[in-house]
Amino acid sequence: MRTSIRGGFRSGAPTQSVVARIGGDEFAVLIGHILHDSDASIVAERILERLSEPFEFEGRSVFVSASIGIALSSTGDTAEELLRNADTAMYRAKTNGRARSEFFNEGMRARVVSRFEVENGLRKAIEERQLVVYYQPIVSPGDSNIRGFEALVRWNHPERGLIQPGEFIPIAEESDIIVLLGRWVLRESCRQMAEWQRTFPPLRSLTVSVNVSARQLCDSRLVEEVESALADSGLNPESLALEMTESSIMGNAQQTLATLDRLKAMNIRLEIDDFGTGYSSLSYLQRLPFDILKIDRSFIREMTAGNGSLDIVKAIMQLARSLKLEVIAEGVETEQQQCRLHELGCNYLQGYLFSKPVDASAAERLCQETGESGFVSLASPLVTTDGLGS
Ligand code: C2E
Ligand code: MG
Ligand code: MG
Repeated sequence: MRTSIRGGFRSGAPTQSVVARIGGDEFAVLIGHILHDSDASIVAERILERLSEPFEFEGRSVFVSASIGIALSSTGDTAEELLRNADTAMYRAKTNGRARSEFFNEGMRARVVSRFEVENGLRKAIEERQLVVYYQPIVSPGDSNIRGFEALVRWNHPERGLIQPGEFIPIAEESDIIVLLGRWVLRESCRQMAEWQRTFPPLRSLTVSVNVSARQLCDSRLVEEVESALADSGLNPESLALEMTESSIMGNAQQTLATLDRLKAMNIRLEIDDFGTGYSSLSYLQRLPFDILKIDRSFIREMTAGNGSLDIVKAIMQLARSLKLEVIAEGVETEQQQCRLHELGCNYLQGYLFSKPVDASAAERLCQETGESGFVSLASPLVTTDGLGS
C-alpha cells in the first residue's frame, strides 16, 4: 500500500500521506493535498492492482481482494466524520461487487444502516418476520419465457422501510447471523415455489435459485437444512438451485467439495454466481459438481462497449461448453445484449430488461399469466440481427 501512494499524480500535486492499519483487515490511507478527485481514485486503482497479485504464504499462493471507500475532505469536517464516510463508501464498494472503489456521497449516508443497528436488528428481524424475499425472473433468451426465479432477500425495516441486501448481507456474513438468515430465505423460497407449482400446474418446471454464502457452505448443518426445507415444503429437489460465488467455494474447497457432492446426490442444481470476478481454480471447477455458471453482470454491461468484455463472455461460454455447464447471463439491460447473448448460445438471461426483483405477489401475477397462456413473455419477442423474429 505504501508503494501505491508514492507514485505521484497526473496533476503533479505534492502529497503527504499516511497508511494505517485500523484493526483486523481494515486499513486507512490518508492522502494530503490532492488537486483532483481522480487523484484519489488513481491511488485506489494502484492499491487494488497490487493486492490482486498473489501472496506467497507457507508455500502457497493466496489471493485477497479489497474494497475501497473514498471520502473527500469536503464531505466531512472532523476526522471521525471522514472515516465514517469512507467506511460507508467501502460498504457500497463491497456491495457493488468487491475489488473496487467508490466515492462517498451524501445520498449514501441516508440509506446506510449502521453496523451496530444491523447486528442487533437482524436477529430480531428474522424472528419478527421483517425479512421478505423478492423474486427476479430468469428467462429463455429467444422467447423471454420465464424458467425460474432468483430469490433475493430484503429487510422491511419498521422505521427505515425496505433495505437492500447490500446494506446488511456483508455485515451478516461476518457472523453466524448469515446462517440464520440463509436458513430462513431457503425455507421461505422453497415454501413459496412449492405453493406456486401447486397453484399453477403448468409451472411445475419452474425453479427457484437461492444464494448461499461461504459461512453456510462451511456449516455442517447445511445439507440437513436443505433436506428439511424440501421435505417441509414438498418442493422437489430438481426445482431448487443453490448459488454460490467462486471465492466462497475456493476459500475452503476440500470441505466444500464433500458438501456439494452430497447436495448434488440429492439432485439439487448448483450454480456459480458472479462468475469471472473471483479467483477460480480451473481444476477444481472441473471436479466440483456444478450445473450452471452465472456470468457476472460487469461483463454483460460492457459487452457491447468494444473493450474486450465481449471476448471474455465468449471465452466463458466456451469454457462452460467444454465443462458441460449451462450459462445464465446476469444484468441484461438492453435488447442488444439479449440479442448478442442469444446468438452466442447463452441458456438463460436475467436482468432489468425482463424484470427487476419483485415481491411475491407481483411475481405471482407473472406466474398467473403464465398459467393462463402457457407461458409468459416479459419482453417483446426477440428480433435477431437478420431481421427475422425468433
Ligand atoms: P446476486 O446474487 O449476484 O444477485 C443479483 C443482483 O443483481 C441483485 O441485487 C439484482 O437485483 C441485481 N440485478 C439483477 N439484474 C440487474 C440488472 O439488469 N442491472 C443491475 N444493475 N442489477 C441487476 P440485490 O437484490 O441487491 O442483491 C445483491 C446481492 O446480495 C446478491 O447478488 C447476493 O450476493 C446478495 N443476496 C441477496 N439475497 C441473499 C440471500 O438470501 N442470501 C445471501 N447469502 N446473499 C444474498
Ligand atoms: Mg445470486
Ligand atoms: Mg450474481
